[in-house]
Amino acid sequence: MRTLLLDSSYYPVEVINWKRAIILLITGRAEAVTDYSSTFIRSTHDAFKLPKILRLFSLHKAKKSIKFCRFNVLYRDDFICQYCHGKFHPKDLTLDHVIPTSRGGRNTWENVVAACSKCNGKKGNKLLKEAGLKLNKVPKKPNWSPQIILKLRQDDPDEWHEWFRSKKVAA
Ligand SMILES: [Zn+2]
Repeated sequence: MRTLLLDSSYYPVEVINWKRAIILLITGRAEAVTDYSSTFIRSTHDAFKLPKILRLFSLHKAKKSIKFCRFNVLYRDDFICQYCHGKFHPKDLTLDHVIPTSRGGRNTWENVVAACSKCNGKKGNKLLKEAGLKLNKVPKKPNWSPQIILKLRQDDPDEWHEWFRSKKVAA
């Protein structure tokens, strides 16, 4: 059984095993957000429901260090070309600089979006207006952690997947 660990601001920190989850719980460093209702961990004096999602009482320091990389940009954009709104396999997507690098555009969350090769080709070194293209949404730095999503498995609780989806919508 695995537990999703959040920090005090409900930011996902990592996926931990049940032993660590129980230690955090009994040492008063975290509280259960939801638990596995049918799974109990028993000690001589107590019985704990195994937490499904656990929230720390402290903030996680690594919060601001989301890595800017190809996968995270594609994930942020839902693997959807930000120009034609088509959904693509990651290998069929490219990264497009909204303001082309040749015109001073930078390699940042705010200036890089997922684009299919057809749209990327159409846009070339043009600005949005010049290419007659519009962005699906304003690109910005995400406030969730795609690194953890990568570790989620198909058989992990639905709440986890839902939690990430709702967090992402709020981003
Ligand atoms: Zn496209």
